[in-house]
Amino acid sequence: MRRVIIAGNWKMNKTISEALELVNGLKRELCDIEDIDIVVIPPFTALGEIADALTSSNIKLGAQDAHWEQKGAFTGEISPTMLKDIGVTYVVIGHSERRIYFGETNETVNKKVKSVLKTDLLPIMCIGERLEEREAGSTFDVIRDHIEGGLKGISEQDVLKVVIAYEPVWAIGTGKTATPAQAEEAHLYIRDLLKELYDESVAKNLRIQYGGSVKPENIKELINQEDIDGALVGGASLKTEEFVSIVKESAKKGV
Ligand code: PEP
Repeated sequence: MRRVIIAGNWKMNKTISEALELVNGLKRELCDIEDIDIVVIPPFTALGEIADALTSSNIKLGAQDAHWEQKGAFTGEISPTMLKDIGVTYVVIGHSERRIYFGETNETVNKKVKSVLKTDLLPIMCIGERLEEREAGSTFDVIRDHIEGGLKGISEQDVLKVVIAYEPVWAIGTGKTATPAQAEEAHLYIRDLLKELYDESVAKNLRIQYGGSVKPENIKELINQEDIDGALVGGASLKTEEFVSIVKESAKKGV
């Protein structure tokens, strides 16, 4: 059975004191949830303090990106080794905002996913089509391209440590959510593709999150789709009440 995973991507938000306030609220409200994985993904500047605040907590720490090299002359970059050193468990790779604004490609995503795995961290690899691609009928082609490119050369043993986040770009931060049927259709396509690229066991066991304007009002229907194993949450993860409500609703699927 796949373990549900709800992750909150805080993007470029929260000073250290704001981040601590949010995480302390989450710790208070979510300390009893044991059956699903809960992850917070603050900006790099707050990782150290949040790691300390999460000592002995059921909430895991994630980072929003990592470079593919472990050290060297890469001004402004952060390596997987540094993230591991500070207490990170999950690393988001290939978020659409990084693909759109910072030139991330399937090739860089693939290098980063491999490097994160090599460091014994768990990648959350983001994929998904833009509005014009959906309207042109090429959603499945884009998904195939992102998955084949991002997972190239990754062994069956390693690929099971990857979480795929299917995030249609047109649904991110727009308030437009994919319908549960649209999301389920894409997740099913991803499982079929994993079966083709790997085997039945990978297709059955790899976790696939949905992301794109997930809120307390729509999580129930989304999480109850058979092939949706969790959510990558942006905007709603910045508010204690909203993220708590998303996690609690999702936990009903975990048991
Ligand atoms: C995201 O950042 O991955 C995301 C899905 O954002 P939002 O929930 O705000 O659409």
